[in-house]
Amino acid sequence: MNRKFTARALPLQSQIVVTRPLSDDELNAHKWVSESPAINSKNVYFYYRMLPEKRLMLGGRADFKGTPAGAKETTSELHKSIGRLWPEWRDVEIEYDWRGFVCFTSQLRPSIGRMPDDLSIYFGFGYHGNGVNNATWSGREIARWLAGSNDKSNPLPTHLPKLVQGIILKFPIPSLRPMYAKAGVAWHHLKDKLDF
Ligand SMILES: Cc1cc2nc3c(=O)[nH]c(=O)nc-3n(C[C@H](O)[C@H](O)[C@H](O)COP(=O)(O)OP(=O)(O)OC[C@H]3O[C@@H](n4cnc5c(N)ncnc54)[C@H](O)[C@@H]3O)c2cc1C
Repeated sequence: MNRKFTARALPLQSQIVVTRPLSDDELNAHKWVSESPAINSKNVYFYYRMLPEKRLMLGGRADFKGTPAGAKETTSELHKSIGRLWPEWRDVEIEYDWRGFVCFTSQLRPSIGRMPDDLSIYFGFGYHGNGVNNATWSGREIARWLAGSNDKSNPLPTHLPKLVQGIILKFPIPSLRPMYAKAGVAWHHLKDKLDF
């Protein structure tokens, strides 16, 4: 990542697990009929869908270690979560898991723009784990913006949603970002437990 963005981005690990294919009896045990993706309504949420070959795919927040041991722990935690959410599937084996970073920002929003102190840099970032659609859309908008003007000042197109306009503020004391991440996730877990 360009160093100008480091203090504005908070990388968080996200992880996915996929079970072995479920039998018809196992699917019926939880009356599962849909392949539509879903997400629960917690602050620290799970997202999941039944894949066409009847494997349950579930994703959630991962550990802060970023090590192979951390990945193993998270897989085990996500496995336990499957058992809590769908008790009949508590012993269904996990066959695949993978992880990676998603980019959070201090303002919890994405940003498209030009770096104020280096106008040669056009950017789009901060998709908060929704980059498949957002990164694609942002890339197209930035390409149109770049191609659409010979004017050196080339201001940000006004049709873009207000939400993405303006460079993201830096985190205060950026070296504390790992602590902010832990504190933020712990706070949201607490809110989920107390349900507020
Ligand atoms: C666990 C997890 C779950 C996610 N779930 C969702 C979700 O449900 N919905 C959603 O919208 N988004 C999700 N995301 C985010 C989404 O995956 C990313 O935002 C999206 O893939 C970004 O697309 P990209 O093409 O910009 O980058 P990437 O998909 O990361 O592709 C970049 C490619 O460039 C290659 N590359 C990197 N550096 C070099 C180099 N120097 N030379 C050559 N090749 C290089 C990489 O190998 C890679 O193939 C998730 C991310 C993770 C980690």
